Amino acid sequence: MTTLYVAPEVLWERITKRIVITPSGCWLWRGATISTGYGCIGTGKKGKSALVHRVAVIVRDGALDDALTVDHMCHNADQACSGGVTCRHRLCVNPEHLDVVTIAVNTQRRMRDHCPKGHSYTPENTKFRKDNGRRICVTCQKANAAKRTKGYGKRGRPSKAAQVALAARHLADTA
Ligand SMILES: [Zn+2]
Ligand SMILES: [Zn+2]
Ligand SMILES: [Zn+2]
Repeated sequence: MTTLYVAPEVLWERITKRIVITPSGCWLWRGATISTGYGCIGTGKKGKSALVHRVAVIVRDGALDDALTVDHMCHNADQACSGGVTCRHRLCVNPEHLDVVTIAVNTQRRMRDHCPKGHSYTPENTKFRKDNGRRICVTCQKANAAKRTKGYGKRGRPSKAAQVALAARHLADTA
């Protein structure tokens, strides 16, 4: 549990004094941030700080379990935002934009827009598997195909066929 040494309402008052409201309705925190791009604020005890968007949820809901993550719905809705450290939404503390989810759900949501390597599932970059209908990232598929034609299997080792071909070539060279 994130421990706050001052009443959440008091922190909230400090937070709302240091925000800018964007046209899209985000309340962007203008105070201190951490390396991942999220805002942080002192919790009232020396050296202790909390993430501002999590404080926003504690104020809204009364509590927040550490095992749950806070998802920025405004980020999910913004197709133009590629996410990461420079994502402005990470600074958003608008309680209406914050959704409490399990880490698994949060990962799943990320997967909805991006392949595991982070390529966007745009119409041009998306194909569907015939067997189970799951999405295929075209960029990754091309990269994997290029690797395979170089004689490397999925795991970066030569494929069985490539090994046979290499062995045959070796035999031909040494014959
Ligand atoms: Zn927002
Ligand atoms: Zn974003
Ligand atoms: Zn990909």
